[in-house]
Amino acid sequence: MTTKQNIDISLVVPMYNEEKVIESFFGEIRESLDDKDVYYEIVCVDDGSSDNTLEILKSHSEADSTIKVITLSRNFGKEIAMTAGLDHAIGNTVVPIDCDLQDPPELIYQMYEMWLKGFDVVLAKRIDRQSDSFAKRKTSQAFYKFIKKMADIDIPENVGDFRLLSRKAADTLNLYREKSRFMKGLFASLGFKSAVVEYSRPERAAGETKWNYFSLYKLALEGIISFTSLPLKVWSYVGALTAIMSFIYGAYLIIKTLLFGVDTPGYASLMVTLLFVSGLILISLGVIGEYLARIFIEVKNRPIYIIDEKYGFEDVKK
Ligand code: UDP
Ligand code: MG
Repeated sequence: MTTKQNIDISLVVPMYNEEKVIESFFGEIRESLDDKDVYYEIVCVDDGSSDNTLEILKSHSEADSTIKVITLSRNFGKEIAMTAGLDHAIGNTVVPIDCDLQDPPELIYQMYEMWLKGFDVVLAKRIDRQSDSFAKRKTSQAFYKFIKKMADIDIPENVGDFRLLSRKAADTLNLYREKSRFMKGLFASLGFKSAVVEYSRPERAAGETKWNYFSLYKLALEGIISFTSLPLKVWSYVGALTAIMSFIYGAYLIIKTLLFGVDTPGYASLMVTLLFVSGLILISLGVIGEYLARIFIEVKNRPIYIIDEKYGFEDVKK
């Protein structure tokens, strides 16, 4: 029986409707870790799946004490499911990993070896993204450039959530209790001594990706808004610039009227100014709204996730 002290690696696996891949996922994990000299646990978080994910997980957890299961009361999204898992992982190192086998399990031990050499954070970096579409690669590139310029943190490009954290790094991460959780940003703001392991990302083993463009857009927005307040501040500059421009234009109009007399009523210029300025006001209000909404969520201070049941944890009676 493994105890708290001797679990070397905790895998944290968010799962949402993954019945098609669970078997092969566990199989691959065993294949890549069982012959190594490590004790590991697999903390699976069922993120409110509506298929047979939970039944499959339960039967695995009964048969295999390394497999632990947390079920959330509904679908909370990957970032939060991962947080629930990180809170429950007790190993000396923690590795968040997707269960669709896009994060190659054979890297786990390589990352662990880097930890043995004294690194606190080991990143798994994709060297090619051929499995992603051209548009997805370009938009994600643009996002990283943008956030690097605007926020104070440098989120490494082509690095997903798949990485290894030492106990120290994981405990530090667990201190971040914000409700809007952009994990890549949180990971990046940790610091600590880091190393990189490179791999090429394969296609999903089975099942479908849960991300569409709208959810990726929301994730990007989350990243920008939770890590920089620039969008909030930029409006005073835009406002000042607009004011200066209107002042110049106003002066021009006065001089023109003095020199040449009253023009035909300036319907066009009025309309343009009106539309332009109200557009600006609406945009800036929207930006404030985005921040305000997050403050609202933070202030309500609801739990980040709600656990329904746990299986396979020693402190829980079955
Ligand atoms: N996932 C989750 N909750 C969600 C969406 C996804 O726990 O609401 C899990 C999913 O089961 C998988 C991981 O997050 O283990 C990554 O999801 P996916 O493969 O769909 O993302 P992609 O690899 O396309 O970025
Ligand atoms: Mg995937």
